[in-house]
Amino acid sequence: MSVPKKQQTKSASRQRRSHNALKKINLSSCPKCKKPVLPHTACLNCGTYKGRQVLTIKEKGAKKAEAEKRKKEKAKKEKNKGKK
Ligand SMILES: [Zn+2]
Repeated sequence: MSVPKKQQTKSASRQRRSHNALKKINLSSCPKCKKPVLPHTACLNCGTYKGRQVLTIKEKGAKKAEAEKRKKEKAKKEKNKGKK
């Protein structure tokens, strides 16, 4: 295994790390709902891209309600299994 011959100076480490900073992401705002969106990406809030509707957006809470419904059905199935 290779071993460094000399300890690297603080200055050298810091100079190397001067390029490691994260860059700010370039966000633009959706023309329809004014929410911040990534460039060349459909808006995840309203599902539009370049003025066209490209995604079907479910209502808020619809996903949660669906998950609960599935959970209930699963529980029902398991109950029926136990009876047999
Ligand atoms: Zn939008």
